[in-house]
Amino acid sequence: MKENQLRKLPSMETILSNPVVMELYKQYPRNLVKEAINDALEKIRLESKNNPEQDISIQNIMNEVRQILSKRKIRKVLNGTGVLLHTNLGRSPLPMISCIKVLEVMSSYSNLEYNLFSGERGSRLENIEYLITKLTGGESAFVVNNNAGAVLLVLSTFCRDKEVIVSRGELVEIGGSFRVPDIMLQSGAKLVEVGTTNITRISDYAKAINENTSSLLKVHPSNFSIKGYTQQVDLKELVSLGRDKNLITIEDLGSGLLKNYPIEFLKPEPTVEDSIKAGVDLVLFSGDKLLGGPQCGIIIGKNHLIKIIKQHPLSRALRIDKMTVAALEAVLEIYFDENRLFSESPLFRMLLMDVSELRKRARYILRKVINKEYFKIIEGVSTTGGGSLPDCAIPTLLITVKKEGKTAEELSIYFRNTNPPLIGTINNDTFTIDLRTILEIQDEELITSLNKVL
Ligand SMILES: *Cc1c(COP(=O)(O)O)cnc(C)c1O
Repeated sequence: MKENQLRKLPSMETILSNPVVMELYKQYPRNLVKEAINDALEKIRLESKNNPEQDISIQNIMNEVRQILSKRKIRKVLNGTGVLLHTNLGRSPLPMISCIKVLEVMSSYSNLEYNLFSGERGSRLENIEYLITKLTGGESAFVVNNNAGAVLLVLSTFCRDKEVIVSRGELVEIGGSFRVPDIMLQSGAKLVEVGTTNITRISDYAKAINENTSSLLKVHPSNFSIKGYTQQVDLKELVSLGRDKNLITIEDLGSGLLKNYPIEFLKPEPTVEDSIKAGVDLVLFSGDKLLGGPQCGIIIGKNHLIKIIKQHPLSRALRIDKMTVAALEAVLEIYFDENRLFSESPLFRMLLMDVSELRKRARYILRKVINKEYFKIIEGVSTTGGGSLPDCAIPTLLITVKKEGKTAEELSIYFRNTNPPLIGTINNDTFTIDLRTILEIQDEELITSLNKVL
């Protein structure tokens, strides 16, 4: 039986003459298509050993080939999850001007490390540092690959073989594998936890200080909140204790909202500007969270400390590439003009979009869909995600999809296979699309996708 099954697998020649292969040849290099066919055959061969019912038809083989070639390929998707900074979906989208700048700089030579005034070697971060310090009031700045890298670099520079005092309530675990204690371990710093999960007082920090202490670390517990009877120390108190004892104060802000903006649900989020005003020596945050920029880790702080950080060998290992320099520079420039920020930053557009605007879009979309009876508009909440504002719930509108004879799970697979793929969530057995995180310019693509459910 098994032997028969194996013999029935189509030959490479038969497969190569299939019309689907001709289509694939138009989209992918021939040799890549052949590799994928071999891998698909191998997979089906293995599976049919254990499963005599295994589908070995040419259609199934071609399905596998398509999966191998296209499913893992990076591409744009429609984010209908309602999570604005979704790490699996690439966190923040970039402003268009930022993307254009990347294209321009990457497709040509550039003055990345060439000073156009002197004609000599220059620094890749000179202008970025200028823009960041102007925007935040910080003395100096440095940028590395991501915020985890920034934490690693800062601790390696100042806290190696020394003690770092941190509140037990702030030892965060961020989705994936980033844990503050693990990064600290890598840097050679010794972590001293003080207080309890919900209460840490300034006296707890003071008591833990000894001659081996190098710094006081505050971590913004960005992706969770401890509710009820809680107390964390005030930033000013921490700074003042640090100054008294000649210790460096470091704050890992995580999401990095630059300033206060007139956006109600952003109010509880601490800002970079406030931390610098409070006198924190080094402030660290991500570039692709609430800043709305490219992936990077931004360090802002005192001149003499940034100077030492720049000289650490890890700063070279963690340096950002020219794509990031170009993208970040364009994003930072937008921040100098609030009107531009609110209109050109896709992240701020999403944060600012009110429900009446969403309702207009939802009505338009429902006018354009063919099978109106499948769709309903209901109220819901979006979240910022990406390690910011854990309690934040932004009122939004959801489009729900229901079709007789189809489960929510089946619909979600269906939409994952549209072009571009549409990613939603399943709530109460219903496939749901949050309109807030669908970029406005993608409404037509959303309609096309919704019209695929026939
Ligand atoms: C997100 C986050 C990090 C990790 O930042 P990456 O840029 O993803 O490396 C570190 N600390 C805090 C508090 C965070 O929220």
